[in-house]
Amino acid sequence: MIPFVRKLEFEYGRVDQVSPLIRRVVANNPGPFTYLGTGTYIVGRGEVAVIDPGPDMADHLEALLAAVSGERVTHILTTHTHADHSPLAHPMAARTGATVIGRASPGMLQATSEFDEPGEGEFRPDIEVADGQRIEGPGWTLEAIATPGHISNHVCFALAEENALFSGDHVMGWSTTVISPPHGDMTDYYASLDKVAARGFATLWPTHGPPVIEVAPFLAAYKAHRLDRERQILAELAKGPRRIADMVPVMYAAVEPRLHPAAAHSVFAHLIHLVRQGQVATDGAPTPDGVYRLV
Ligand SMILES: [Zn+2]
Repeated sequence: MIPFVRKLEFEYGRVDQVSPLIRRVVANNPGPFTYLGTGTYIVGRGEVAVIDPGPDMADHLEALLAAVSGERVTHILTTHTHADHSPLAHPMAARTGATVIGRASPGMLQATSEFDEPGEGEFRPDIEVADGQRIEGPGWTLEAIATPGHISNHVCFALAEENALFSGDHVMGWSTTVISPPHGDMTDYYASLDKVAARGFATLWPTHGPPVIEVAPFLAAYKAHRLDRERQILAELAKGPRRIADMVPVMYAAVEPRLHPAAAHSVFAHLIHLVRQGQVATDGAPTPDGVYRLV
């Protein structure tokens, strides 16, 4: 079981000091992908960085500008190009003169189904961030950590002074993350989970929900949950060749049927990974309605 953390003391639009170097303002965009809303982080004092400004909502922009009143926003960082993370970056930069740092959309990023998070069609940062790149201000040092998986352009940002990681949607305390092909990739996701676990961060600050402070056990359970799903798929295929539509009602018997289509995307992501690993075969390239069998 993943030890989820879901309790968050907040008010929409209010700025809260949540650690010595970190403030947070939550946008009023609650939903199935965003939990209570997008938590925008402000790092430092005087000259600050803003992480995941969020959706293009006028009241959220005004709340952020009020939170940094009298200070200078030098950098606006985006963890990825989903619609609840990056769209406010350029409008906020226009008001503050900040440099937008992140990764561009990987081509057309429209949601391919209602179970995908909507992307922002053509997001372009001012600076395309590289893995390991440092972004600094007075008293704070951020380091970009490329973490593809949830989406290919996902980047987390480590805050050296607090041994903390702004984990975006890569690791969230309130929920597992959506891995939906083609933009989501389970093979990459596993590697990115290991990459974060190897760093020994003391705190994770996801863009949605409260921080994760029991980091190592949380990450171990987060990965174990995916491996468990993988074992369930292999167990289903041990009964004989199957389609995703045959496996989901069995694997997700405890989950409401209305969530089964979303679960099917996750099973598809696992199957692509298992085919790459040589454990599962299908005819031709993996597809959502293909027949899968054990090798
Ligand atoms: Zn996302």
